[in-house]
Amino acid sequence: MGIRTGLDYVASLRDDRRLFIDGRQVPDVTAYAPMRGVIDTIAALHDAQFDPALRDILTHRSPTTGDLVSNTYIAARTEAEFQTLAGCFHLRALRTYGLMGRLTDFMSGFLMDLAAGLRLLGKDEAAARAQHVVEVCREGDLQVTHALIDPQSDRSTLAAPAEAVHVVERTREGVVVSGCRMLSTLAPVSNVCYVGPYYPRKPGEERFALAFLVAMNAPGLTILGRESFHHGESRFDRPLSSRFDEGDAILIFDRVTIPHDWMIVDGDMAAHNGLLGARPGYTAIQACTRGMIKLRFLTGLATAIARANGRDRTPRFQAAIGELAAFVGVADGIRTAAISDCRARVEALAAGRPMPRGDGLTGPEAFGNAAGAAVNFFFPHANTKAADVLRMAAGSGVLAMTEADYANPEIGALMDRWLIGPNTTAEQRLKLMKLAWDLTGTEFGSRAGLYERLYSGDPEANAQRWFQSPVVAECEAMVARLLEG
Ligand SMILES: Cc1cc2nc3c(=O)[nH]c(=O)nc-3n(C[C@H](O)[C@H](O)[C@H](O)COP(=O)(O)OP(=O)(O)OC[C@H]3O[C@@H](n4cnc5c(N)ncnc54)[C@H](O)[C@@H]3O)c2cc1C
Repeated sequence: MGIRTGLDYVASLRDDRRLFIDGRQVPDVTAYAPMRGVIDTIAALHDAQFDPALRDILTHRSPTTGDLVSNTYIAARTEAEFQTLAGCFHLRALRTYGLMGRLTDFMSGFLMDLAAGLRLLGKDEAAARAQHVVEVCREGDLQVTHALIDPQSDRSTLAAPAEAVHVVERTREGVVVSGCRMLSTLAPVSNVCYVGPYYPRKPGEERFALAFLVAMNAPGLTILGRESFHHGESRFDRPLSSRFDEGDAILIFDRVTIPHDWMIVDGDMAAHNGLLGARPGYTAIQACTRGMIKLRFLTGLATAIARANGRDRTPRFQAAIGELAAFVGVADGIRTAAISDCRARVEALAAGRPMPRGDGLTGPEAFGNAAGAAVNFFFPHANTKAADVLRMAAGSGVLAMTEADYANPEIGALMDRWLIGPNTTAEQRLKLMKLAWDLTGTEFGSRAGLYERLYSGDPEANAQRWFQSPVVAECEAMVARLLEG
């Protein structure tokens, strides 16, 4: 089938999914006004694939069917393929200003990593099923989301809670699962969801050790969407909520049958727990690209706001924005590292080696940490800091009037007279302030801030994992070398 138009995508959402938002069942999400903006945004990304000027950046011929498919699914091996993959991620993140954390692109990389990771672990049958899932998503041009986290039943223990998704029966048609998963961004407007490991499972928890793909309209699946953050305000007043509110949802499985060829891992502890670490890093390329573009956007808006109120001439704000510009430079470097590290891993895998290693002299012994570290810590830090600079540059200006105020001649005239900035009209200033508020202060903005911090999972658990990494021992060994002379 290959690439779909925006209209095809919209039609695919009318699939009788069981979706609830704000206390009501939503029988047709495409007719649900608060989500219309993000549906249109995604539809436009589909349509762009048919634009002759963008076709080579966004699509290629499928290796299995010859149909045009998304470049987000290029399992890159050569330099040219990596550049094409990264270029596609870049353009799509640019069109969404890095504000859609879970564009389906993230899952293209994730699923390719999954298939490669299972091969690396020697789990060939599971790897073949993962590859099948890649092809289902690629050939169908599906919107894919994921749900990796158990419900917050009791976070004092890592034991799988009884409420987590687990196997209840095995039938000829597939594996029947029940339980709950969170939190699935994009779920209300996705076609399919990947459910897989984040928490390691312990012996005895085999029925919780699962990785599978599920259709959003699978019988028995209920999607509990969080309240929408777009309440019908104009694009002027809510330039971001009205376009990029991707939705988040909790998924409840009540005897959902997962077909055998969509059940990638079923009770294999080594595969389940091994998947947490084994991957070439296609996901990281997308995640670093998205994080870098959002950082650019935040930096750009902080600068525009500072110019609109004259704060660009205050040394403190010059320094703060200068620091953000330096972060952008670091982010660019990390993206480059994400690409080259992934390529080195792919080459090592192809040569039958589990991971590339530096020689400890020209490169670190523990190889390829830049992108993972950046996704866990650098981007959360840099983007949180950038949002804070923006907030302080705008000051109370974000508590601004509305488009309706400005359109009212009586109020508009007052604003034109009194609410201006250096070389900035009242209307320009108002637009900038509405944008700054939507990025930092509205429900959309607050959620975006929380998301940056939790984007790659629990920061505490991530830091604990880094504590166990070979980097710590490598650093410590330097001290021992010096002391031993
Ligand atoms: C906007 C948003 C979108 C998301 N989208 C997705 C998605 O699409 N798919 C998906 O799978 N997940 C998604 N998530 C979930 C995300 O992965 C989790 O939020 C993250 O893993 C943390 O888990 P939790 O929210 O259950 O917090 P909890 O595990 O309940 O932890 C709460 C807090 O306690 C902290 N903490 C943990 N351990 C300790 C400790 N020992 N000492 C002190 N503090 C500690 C954590 O860092 C965290 O800040 C999303 C989250 C948000 C906020």
